[in-house]
Amino acid sequence: MKKITAPKGTDDILPDDIYRWQWIEAKAREVAERYGYREIRFPIFEHTELFTRGIGEATEIVEKEMYTFPDRSGRSLTLRPEGTASVARAFVEKINPGTLWKVYYLGPMFRYERPQGGRFRQFYQMGVEAIGSAAPALDAEVISLAVDFFQNLGLRNLMVEMNSIGCCKCRPVYKETLKSFFKDKLSSLCNDCQRRFQRNILRILDCKRDECRKISADSPSVLEHLCLECREHFKSVQKHLELIGLKYRLNPFIVRGLDYYTRSVFEIVSEHLGAQSALCGGGRYDDLIEELGGQPTPAVGWALGMERTIMVLEREGVSIPRPRLKAFIIAIGKEAEGRAEKLLYRLRRNGFSADRDFQGKSLKGQMKQADRLEADFALIIGEDEIKNDVVSIRNMLTGEQKQVKLELVENELKR
Ligand code: AMP
Repeated sequence: MKKITAPKGTDDILPDDIYRWQWIEAKAREVAERYGYREIRFPIFEHTELFTRGIGEATEIVEKEMYTFPDRSGRSLTLRPEGTASVARAFVEKINPGTLWKVYYLGPMFRYERPQGGRFRQFYQMGVEAIGSAAPALDAEVISLAVDFFQNLGLRNLMVEMNSIGCCKCRPVYKETLKSFFKDKLSSLCNDCQRRFQRNILRILDCKRDECRKISADSPSVLEHLCLECREHFKSVQKHLELIGLKYRLNPFIVRGLDYYTRSVFEIVSEHLGAQSALCGGGRYDDLIEELGGQPTPAVGWALGMERTIMVLEREGVSIPRPRLKAFIIAIGKEAEGRAEKLLYRLRRNGFSADRDFQGKSLKGQMKQADRLEADFALIIGEDEIKNDVVSIRNMLTGEQKQVKLELVENELKR
């Protein structure tokens, strides 16, 4: 029979790797809760309209990357390509307007992208959203949360890149300025950017192709086209970042791919990631809640990629503690098996992680298995041990072995 493989762009996280994910997720929760953010879990699929309206019709995600399907009733549903739209939807649906709502989430997102290094079709994000305030101090808070998280993991060579893309008042004017700038250079831009010129002109600025970057380098900067309020807001965000001692760099080419962003946008990049250099991206989205039917409510947030975080951890050589099995119990002979099984459950019930062989392996085979499972101790029960009511305990790290009274095994494991 032909084997069935996992779909392109997806991957299994196997038990031998899961400890890295669990370690990162535990750190994510710990940092987010330290900042006063609480976890939210929202559906994996939503009404398609949430994303077309929230993220924007003319964005790459909505145009090309959504997993959209009719359910049995014929309604159009979409696997979530990101989390902000769902969090905003939950806010509008469930939370009193006027509440300051600080939440975080962890989970898979789905985008039909071309898989390559650091880019998948099912990938995992951690995200935070702070809804209900336009305070620049809140922009600084969410950025600091991300930086603290990465630093807690032990990552070093990261940079925060900041920009402001203005609001619904000043951005249209800036877009017109960009249009006049790019109008006579269109034929030198890549095909994608020629389309962006019509549909989503800001995105020309973050095109990674050399020919487009060269042209964009001389384009008018958004920072010189902000209205007074947006300029003041951005200045204040920077003041707060300086006040709390966070280093950042201005990068007027950061525009982000989603339509809902207003004012502050930022990315955290790593020099270890090459073309897909962004580990984390986010910004303000002061109009989204209203766009989804709520009261006007400013908000700010970000999302980071877990796979990319793991890649950078590996490249920076950060070692992640691997959980070990406390005891592997080895029985030699039929009679020993009963005693081994009883001891196995006694240890488990007393709070020790313990396991044994279920495949009738030889002593050598069982020792190998204890090694492979990274057990701290092998507990060996054979004829001799039964006769003397003892267990042979082998320290798998040092190779040291001794006999211990059966009733004292727990004490020995605790030492
Ligand atoms: P975005 O939601 O596009 O702002 O992306 C936020 C972060 O999610 C990025 O900085 C990446 O770390 C991660 N990310 C986005 N798309 C993918 C993908 N297709 N595969 C893996 N990670 C992704």
